[in-house]
Amino acid sequence: MGQPLDIAIAGAGIAGLSLAIALAQRGQSVTVYEQSGAITEVGAGLQISPNGSAVLAGLGLGDAALALGMRGTAIELYSHDSDQRVLRLDLTRARHGNPHPYLFLHRADLIGLLKERAEAAGVRVQLDRRIDPAAGIPDGADLLVGADGLHSAVRSVLNGSMAPFFTGQVAWRALVPGDGAAPPVARVWMAPKRHIVAYPLRGGALVNLVAVEERRSWVAEGWFHPDEPDNLREAFAGFPPAVGTLLERCKSVFVWGLFRHQVAGTWHDGRMAILGDAVHPTLPFLAQGANMALEDAWVLAAALAPHGQAVARDDLPAALSRYQAARIKRVTRIVDAAEDNARAYHLQNPAARLALHTGLRVASMVAPGAVLGRFDWLYGADVTRA
Ligand SMILES: Cc1cc2nc3c(=O)[nH]c(=O)nc-3n(C[C@H](O)[C@H](O)[C@H](O)COP(=O)(O)OP(=O)(O)OC[C@H]3O[C@@H](n4cnc5c(N)ncnc54)[C@H](O)[C@@H]3O)c2cc1C
Repeated sequence: MGQPLDIAIAGAGIAGLSLAIALAQRGQSVTVYEQSGAITEVGAGLQISPNGSAVLAGLGLGDAALALGMRGTAIELYSHDSDQRVLRLDLTRARHGNPHPYLFLHRADLIGLLKERAEAAGVRVQLDRRIDPAAGIPDGADLLVGADGLHSAVRSVLNGSMAPFFTGQVAWRALVPGDGAAPPVARVWMAPKRHIVAYPLRGGALVNLVAVEERRSWVAEGWFHPDEPDNLREAFAGFPPAVGTLLERCKSVFVWGLFRHQVAGTWHDGRMAILGDAVHPTLPFLAQGANMALEDAWVLAAALAPHGQAVARDDLPAALSRYQAARIKRVTRIVDAAEDNARAYHLQNPAARLALHTGLRVASMVAPGAVLGRFDWLYGADVTRA
């Protein structure tokens, strides 16, 4: 244990900024480099489940996040061809003793909060600065952490190129005006080969939509490919009126291809490390990408500066190995579970669909606790208590 570490972080997304706060609060010297000239966040919603909001609370941001977001009370599943609810997951009961809330947050609001708190904690944020890890560690830092997202350059240096494969699914995302009266519930309508999720943001002033359709043709991976709202409306024509009403309000939508990535095999080399989407990009079917990034940030900061004291520079490789060992099993399980969820939502065989939906409906009436209990391993985890 010794002198504070000088840590460079590439990327001012959720992973990079939350790591920066956690490290600064543990007395480390931190600079975040962001390639964009401004931290402008795409307009989209995020579900932060109790495992993620536990980290926000650990960083001292629990109340501020709750004030910006909405506390989700339930996730409800519906079939596209019936008004009958298939399943209701009550989100208000603490799981495994984790009392932290399930939140619906606007991404821009969360990023704004993280940036403000990082700077208040003494983190330097340099915009318009793209890090090229192949050229070495910036500004003589002890460690470069790649929080540089899906197309991470730091991951490439550590792992070589890892080709993802197209899952045969595309997703649209859109924000539409809300009527301010929607309950804080995430609703999912499922149909063969497609589903759509809607939940309110900012007190119900907005509704976040994510819609997924299976198709053969390839759409580029990334967040900024605009599409015609009519394509989305056409894909979900015939869904219940509640969906039609939301889609009618859609003025702009983005579409992207969903790719399956391997979890990276090498997370560090002693001088560079990765976290968040740079290590384990995930499909959006469990809403866990940002939650995993928050968990990673806490665990990595704790490995580098246990009890607020930095590990000695010679001990960096061992500390980084402890971080990888603490995280790899859980993130791999989450990434796999997200893929399984897509299959369950999109069942095509009518008999299999009926059997699954009836089973879920009965189970949620007879033993609602047991149904949500299936997610205890996910939502109940609190890395800040480990
Ligand atoms: C539509 C959609 C809905 C989602 N919903 C949810 C949800 O409900 N709940 C949830 O938990 N997750 C959700 N996710 C996933 C979540 O948004 C991501 O997993 C999370 O934002 C990843 O954060 P990150 O910081 O690792 O990466 P990013 O947010 O991608 O940030 C990476 C940053 O690094 C910068 N950068 C890249 N390269 C460099 C470089 N060389 N030098 C400097 N800077 C660089 C980028 O500009 C960017 O700012 C969703 C994703 C999508 C697409």
